[in-house]
Amino acid sequence: MDKCAKCDSENVIPDGELLDRDETAEHALGAAIYKDPDALVFAGKKRLAVAARICADCGHLELYVRDHDLDTVREVLEQRRR
Ligand SMILES: [Zn+2]
Repeated sequence: MDKCAKCDSENVIPDGELLDRDETAEHALGAAIYKDPDALVFAGKKRLAVAARICADCGHLELYVRDHDLDTVREVLEQRRR
């Protein structure tokens, strides 16, 4: 069960999105991580889908990486630890 990280309520919507909008369209915001953040080229950029968990009781909005991208986060972390 999803819970609010701030007030512990279970009245949350777990699959919201944060949107950016320009003149023609809306885009769901994502996040990026890098295997080698100091590299000038070939930094190994990986894009991650981001979801928003929103609490109906206190309004707290929390961003998190979707489950299907967690393997990517683990892979980049492993690469950085080498
Ligand atoms: Zn809350």
